[in-house]
Amino acid sequence: MEGRPVNLRRTDRDQDEHWTDDAACRGSDPEIFYPVGFAGPALQQEAAAKSICAGCVVRSDCLTWALRAGEPAGIWGGTTPEERRLLRRMSA
Ligand code: SF4
Repeated sequence: MEGRPVNLRRTDRDQDEHWTDDAACRGSDPEIFYPVGFAGPALQQEAAAKSICAGCVVRSDCLTWALRAGEPAGIWGGTTPEERRLLRRMSA
């Protein structure tokens, strides 16, 4: 199974999604990027996803995309949905 960010909305690819080609999460298990819940295994999945993001050369592009798209779920650019909501509030 191919991992993220293969699942990104590819219709935008010709515009500004070319950064996904260099994503560190390509080929990784997409489930760790969508932890369910706020405890136990979900925290381990979140930590694993953030660890991959920490070494990703397109992290900034990914976070910018997620903030602009209002991505409501998943780990993007090393952030959780809650962290992105806080970032959006701080920049408003
Ligand atoms: S920052 Fe994380 S979610 Fe975004 S492309 Fe890189 S590894 Fe994937």
